[in-house]
Amino acid sequence: MRITIRVEPRHADNSTCEHAVKPSGKPRDPASGCPGRTQFAVVCSEHGDIAQPHHVKQLAEPAVTKHRQEHRAALTAR
Ligand SMILES: [Zn+2]
Ligand SMILES: [Zn+2]
Repeated sequence: MRITIRVEPRHADNSTCEHAVKPSGKPRDPASGCPGRTQFAVVCSEHGDIAQPHHVKQLAEPAVTKHRQEHRAALTAR
């Protein structure tokens, strides 16, 4: 099974943000109902949420890389 690990933008209530937002995290379209993007969760297709969501996307990226490496290590250990 192919495992995917990605950064998922979230709202303050931890729901997924799939709205178009400005770099500031504010919704691009005020009528979209988006309350604003406040955090970024690292989600693995096998393990679900990895650790705590990050408030800055740049900080979530290394967690994706790290978790990907853990999977790679687990595969080669077999
Ligand atoms: Zn949103
Ligand atoms: Zn995983």
